[in-house]
Amino acid sequence: MSSNINKWKILMQTPEEQKYMIPLSSYVLKLFGEIFGVGIINSETCLLYNDEKAAYPMLIINRNPIMIRTNVEKFRCWEQFIFQLSHEMTHYIIRQYKTDKTAIVKWFEETICEAMSLYILRVSSMRWIECALHSIKPNYGVALEFYWRDVYKQTEESVLKRCHTLHELELVEEACETNRKGRSIERNYLFNTFCDMPNSIAEFVYYPLYMHGDLQIDFETWTSNQNNNLLIPHLKAIQPKLTAS
Ligand SMILES: [Zn+2]
Repeated sequence: MSSNINKWKILMQTPEEQKYMIPLSSYVLKLFGEIFGVGIINSETCLLYNDEKAAYPMLIINRNPIMIRTNVEKFRCWEQFIFQLSHEMTHYIIRQYKTDKTAIVKWFEETICEAMSLYILRVSSMRWIECALHSIKPNYGVALEFYWRDVYKQTEESVLKRCHTLHELELVEEACETNRKGRSIERNYLFNTFCDMPNSIAEFVYYPLYMHGDLQIDFETWTSNQNNNLLIPHLKAIQPKLTAS
């Protein structure tokens, strides 16, 4: 790995992993470094590995060092690896701003990670020439674009918009990982926002500082502390407005 991502240890087992994991990860980490700063993507040692048989990708935080596990088969679809790694990388970045490392507002953080996956794929598709694998497959940007557009198209009615009480939000929170599509409208909304204001994306990392309980975010305080930030009003827009508790 190049020296600017020296906190990343990549475990490669299969021949495909040995061929593709380093160029793809370096590329994704470079894009994250541009958005969040190279310092933050190197702030904590992380072991990256792929497990074809795992049930799902995950940032594993009950290990030292922490680990990112992806879950792609044979590295045939690079877009899948970029998609998964970007999601878990977003959790990794946000984690660096948490005092309590287990604190999370899942419905919110998961939606951000899902939007970032789409966003990084879109950027990768447009700037594929910068990936070392470009020399092997110069036209792969087209496949990346096809993939993110396909994910973007998959939407369902919003479960967040139907939330009016804290209890309803609690139910959304509990089903967060099993019902991702229920937040797809908000995912796409944040994705569009990230595309519109790429220079403001990094603000979302501060959300843990404004957690109000473990289901809501105190956007009033956040806004008054950072009142010129363009992203916060859009983050606020996806939080259900509760009328009763
Ligand atoms: Zn996640």
